[in-house]
Amino acid sequence: MKICRLLFCAALAAQPVLGASFRDPNPEITAIVSEISPARIEHTIHRLVAFGTRNTLSDTVSDTRGIGAARRWIKGRLDDCARESGGRLQVAFDPHHVESGPRIPRPTDIVNVVATLPGDQPESRDRIYVVSGHYDSIVSDPTNAEKDAPGADDDGSGTAVSMELACVMARHHFDATLVFMTVAGEEQGLYGSTGFAEDARKKGLDIEGMITNDIVGSSTGPDGRVDQGRVRLFAQGVPAEKSLPDDVLAALRTGGENDLPTRQLARAIARAASIYVPGLRVQTIWRLDRYLRGGDHFPFLKNGYPAVRFTEPVEDFHHQHQDVRVENGVQYGDLPQFVDFGYVAQVARVNAAALASLALAPAAPREVQIEALRLENDTTLRWAANREPDVAGYRIVWRDTTAPDWQHARDVGDVTRFTLAGVAKDNYVFGVEAYDRDGNVSPATYPRPYFPPRLAR
Ligand SMILES: [Zn+2]
Repeated sequence: MKICRLLFCAALAAQPVLGASFRDPNPEITAIVSEISPARIEHTIHRLVAFGTRNTLSDTVSDTRGIGAARRWIKGRLDDCARESGGRLQVAFDPHHVESGPRIPRPTDIVNVVATLPGDQPESRDRIYVVSGHYDSIVSDPTNAEKDAPGADDDGSGTAVSMELACVMARHHFDATLVFMTVAGEEQGLYGSTGFAEDARKKGLDIEGMITNDIVGSSTGPDGRVDQGRVRLFAQGVPAEKSLPDDVLAALRTGGENDLPTRQLARAIARAASIYVPGLRVQTIWRLDRYLRGGDHFPFLKNGYPAVRFTEPVEDFHHQHQDVRVENGVQYGDLPQFVDFGYVAQVARVNAAALASLALAPAAPREVQIEALRLENDTTLRWAANREPDVAGYRIVWRDTTAPDWQHARDVGDVTRFTLAGVAKDNYVFGVEAYDRDGNVSPATYPRPYFPPRLAR
């Protein structure tokens, strides 16, 4: 049945638009998406709020109030899910000691809760996708550890998404490894995510994608208008650094500034969302983050990993980083009454679809090159064969240089070199994707130029 899908696709290969067969839902992913529970997400957010404050500097001893109680509860809930799913989910605290900082007045242990679901396929297990939310919260003064800081939306919502995904996805099997993370210290300066990302870089971990869900809880803007049909996805292009790595410079020389791995990750996420969660449009924004704001994707990007951020469509700043109070008849504070639990569930479904698609698919092809050996009006691409045993073939995608997303695709079968006759490489942006026997498709890889040896640089 699944192979027929691919053969059908091969018949469509000459079609100028994306073959419909690659958009057929994978029943496994449809099942995962359907298991996301708004009721469980609602319960999680209320439970997190009930700890009073989750400020990173707050009490760590109490069992009922403060960040220590919150993280022990998160770990306990994830341990339950690990047990219910046969014990494959590995749950652990991930502590990082910080001596001092602008928002860290005294030595503080920043403790992430990390749940890892190892991949089943040996050739894919070292490839990792991370999803994260921050469980710490603040009021108007970031160092006030006493006042109630409910943090229902910022970022109880993202924490609930990570936990829900861990519990649902641990009941399923993937080729690659998934890490479901809730981090602390975000509001003090991204300390938890920085600790994790720096450790990952030191260990040489192959993180092929990181998603942070931060403020994904409200569908209502400050003017009262409701938009339940959209979520923003922030995806950086070229990093704003004075010196750039060679692979980035190589892409820039041929107009590949919109095709670095973070933008390819964003395209893959938006594609999965459009197939499995058609009711929630992913509005991809080609920008690191909103003005004046930051998030846990920053340290991953800084350490060379593709990383993106989900955030609700229109933020109401009365409900972020505010003391809980009523002023001139306006309720301030990040209270659960302003969270739309059904909307959070939709965001969780998009994450589930994207992560499942990525972790079931082969890795994006490596050593992808576009031959620039002579003046010609054809395009020849070459790449290294993927090492996964279930890879069934490759697909070349392309688009106008001014278009944001792929417009054309050709399934070229299980080869490592292909010529698109009559398609001039000078006029389009190309990518190569790998697909497996079940039709799961990897993100695209942008080709580096392959020059004649005398021009090689
Ligand atoms: Zn936040």
